[in-house]
Amino acid sequence: FSHQERVAVVMVGHVDHGKSTIVGRLLAEAGALPKGELEQVQEYCRRNARTFEYAYLLDALKDEQAQGITIDSARVFFSLEGRDFVWIDAPGHVEFIKNMVTGASRADAAFLVIDVREGVQENSRRHGYLLSFLGVEQVVVLVNKMDLVDWQEEAFSRVRDRFGEFLEGLGIRPVAYIPVSGREGDNLVSLSPRMPWYLGPTVKDVFLEFSPRTGTEGGPFRMPVQAVYKFTRLGDDRRIIAGTVVTGTLSVGDEVVFYPSGKRSRVKRIESFNEEPSLLSAGESKGFTLETQVYVRPGELAARVDEPPPEGASAFRVTLFWLSPHPMVKGKRYTLRLGAAREAAYLSEIKAVVDSSDLTTESHKEVVEQYDVAECVLSTLKPVAFDLYHRIPPTGRFVIIDEYEIAGGGVILEALPVSGVDS
Ligand code: GDP
Repeated sequence: FSHQERVAVVMVGHVDHGKSTIVGRLLAEAGALPKGELEQVQEYCRRNARTFEYAYLLDALKDEQAQGITIDSARVFFSLEGRDFVWIDAPGHVEFIKNMVTGASRADAAFLVIDVREGVQENSRRHGYLLSFLGVEQVVVLVNKMDLVDWQEEAFSRVRDRFGEFLEGLGIRPVAYIPVSGREGDNLVSLSPRMPWYLGPTVKDVFLEFSPRTGTEGGPFRMPVQAVYKFTRLGDDRRIIAGTVVTGTLSVGDEVVFYPSGKRSRVKRIESFNEEPSLLSAGESKGFTLETQVYVRPGELAARVDEPPPEGASAFRVTLFWLSPHPMVKGKRYTLRLGAAREAAYLSEIKAVVDSSDLTTESHKEVVEQYDVAECVLSTLKPVAFDLYHRIPPTGRFVIIDEYEIAGGGVILEALPVSGVDS
């Protein structure tokens, strides 16, 4: 049982276009629901004189711990034909964006749901744009409520062509466009006889084709140092360097180097509460001690000497998504949270701002406003260590804190020499 193997899937789209209905009906039809769940929700609706909706299933699942499906806040775990998935619930687009940029939840694949009658909405565009910005590569477009247009191919093609053109402009090539009816169940687990013009795949088919994003186990060792504990036991004065490994592995005897200080030493022991493992790998929150006494600060990034090093800089080019109602302005001091580091940071330069709803670009903006996606230069008072997002996503992503709240987040595109920044 490994969380690494689970494919994380998110379903996004304008409110009421049918996301919860599709997921509920899919799980019901594919036999992925706990026994009796469907009957229980139907019975509840009967007793309370409410019309049954497949969308209710999801809410019911979120409230319980049932066999085969476990619920963890806004996530639903389930299996289809022996493969494990986690469905990330994204109630509002701001929540979704916030979770994605902060890394709270990361989607390997996404369904974009569009109501065939309403067509492409501002939110459909915004979601498409963000999926491209966040690098979600497996995208499937579901054109829903086909029952309301008499199952006509023309209605489906119209939405597919319009949205397709838009997505292509963003560099997104959807895996498939599927005409569905969440309410009636068409094309979810089997091909619909009411749409003989559509030859596949079904929604279940594409689920089974999804692959988890390339694993992080293979990458170079990276561990943001969360804490350094001083231990004195039997005259043996040790410092335990503790944190969570984000990529790669570390073994006893490996030479480690800490960035940005550049201090290095060999791993003496790998520390765990009870046992003494000899290898640390991705996802583990543990610690290690060093052969020589070097003074490492929490916030540094640990790497291995024999592997590619992280970047170190105090100015970098980023793509930033701003969430706060208070615009981001130049000269103001913010806090940058990157790995375990927190540093004072400034907005140095705005290169371009894209309005995420209509994709218009502005190059002369002086501030970054709420829901703007900005390409800009950030600078920190002290150098920080990171990786470029396209190389190692977990250490290439940051969050900006303003007044103790997450005000924005983004990904690092390039490290800049200090002289490259205009002050
Ligand atoms: P969400 O906000 O995107 O999760 O949308 P819901 O799943 O809650 O659905 C919104 C409304 O659309 C509900 O009243 C559903 O019954 C209805 N709905 C969803 N899918 C279909 C469909 O395929 N056909 C029809 N006619 N109605 C649908």
